[in-house]
Amino acid sequence: MRPIRTTLTPEEMPKKWYNILPDLPEPLAPPLDPGTKQPISPSALEAIFPKALIAQEMSSERYIDIPEEVLQAYMLINRPSPLQRATRLEEALGTPAHIYFKREDLSPAGSHKTNTAFAQAYYNMKEGVTHLTTETGAGQWGTALSLASSYFGLKCKVFMVRASYDQKPYRREIMRMYGAEVNPSPSPLTEFGRKLLAKDPKHPGSLGIAISEALETCIKDGNAKYSLGSVLNHVMLHQTIIGQEAMLQFQKLGETPDYLIGCVGGGSNFAGFTFPFIGQKLKGKLDAEFIAVEPTVVPSLTKGKYEYDFGDTAGMTPLLLMYTLGHDFVPSAIHAGGLRYHGAAPTVSALVKSKVVKPISYQQKEVFEAAHLFAKSEGIIPAPETSHAIKAAIDLALEAKKNNEEKVIAFNFSGHGLLDLGGYQQYLDGKMA
Ligand SMILES: *Cc1c(COP(=O)(O)O)cnc(C)c1O
Repeated sequence: MRPIRTTLTPEEMPKKWYNILPDLPEPLAPPLDPGTKQPISPSALEAIFPKALIAQEMSSERYIDIPEEVLQAYMLINRPSPLQRATRLEEALGTPAHIYFKREDLSPAGSHKTNTAFAQAYYNMKEGVTHLTTETGAGQWGTALSLASSYFGLKCKVFMVRASYDQKPYRREIMRMYGAEVNPSPSPLTEFGRKLLAKDPKHPGSLGIAISEALETCIKDGNAKYSLGSVLNHVMLHQTIIGQEAMLQFQKLGETPDYLIGCVGGGSNFAGFTFPFIGQKLKGKLDAEFIAVEPTVVPSLTKGKYEYDFGDTAGMTPLLLMYTLGHDFVPSAIHAGGLRYHGAAPTVSALVKSKVVKPISYQQKEVFEAAHLFAKSEGIIPAPETSHAIKAAIDLALEAKKNNEEKVIAFNFSGHGLLDLGGYQQYLDGKMA
């Protein structure tokens, strides 16, 4: 028997998160106050975030301890997660390459997002916060935060992009099963939502609009804080548990990855998987390539501008220096809902700018073809977001075949697609444009 999984024991789980900020080629440009356009003071963020997360957002410490309670919660979400070899996919492709994927789909919420949801809920609970507000697009982030809120005894109010609220009713029910309140966005609950609904009662919503509504709700409620599932430095930090585990797993295997791949919406699963390895590369200890994959129709990293922009549509968030398509960009209705965001994390953007990370993009149909081959070979249905990373891994494996090279290719399996079958149904029925 050939083993296909490399596992770690709970004792082997990394006890610190890795902060890439002190290792970046250039210091990260500070977030700006939307009013004054000057660097924002940490205290200005206290209306929306707990102090511990603001400190992490700006920290220059390379390693930050993971609290005991969060380590305990990580076991509930099946950490440490296995690193799996896609031997059947390798055979189907006839490639000499070794293809590995990190199983972030094994969290009960179905994606990597619980890695930061539990950390954020924990720090809010510690500082006496009783309510969290947040947005969700396809529903993965809302699901993760609903679960983490329930675990740490917080109430969670989710604004869900209306198009997904109607298209993906089961994600909504999962959030409600975890005890959250779920509202379609735009909603009549906020001033911004009411303004949009007055113009168009059937407004489909967007992630940027839902962020604006969650922020407005948080600011009006004294006991609430706001929680974001991607983009910010502290979110990338929490996700580095993924890459640090993977580094230990590659050591156990005696393999060194040549390519590390992740899909990018806001950038958190990519960052979590690659940053620990990028830290090694920046110190000259690893010679690997890092590939960020996005949809052709939301090309922030491949075609966006590198400039200061808002994180939301109403212009309430601090301005962040990032690759962006503009905060009023309206993405087309692709099935990879988690990749429909106008910008990308400032840290990931800076690494693209300095050419440490290479961005590429794919069309929806070729991504779904890759997902189909993967599902038939490995038995796991990937989230449409994850399928972008799979497509890139397959292309690199085919290039290795052409050159007859035994490359080691690894991608982050950010989540499963068992609630995305509507999209796969369209593809299988030949109804995908
Ligand atoms: C949210 C999500 C993404 C995209 O978000 P990132 O912050 O870029 O990771 C990708 N895959 C899955 C499964 C998701 O839920």
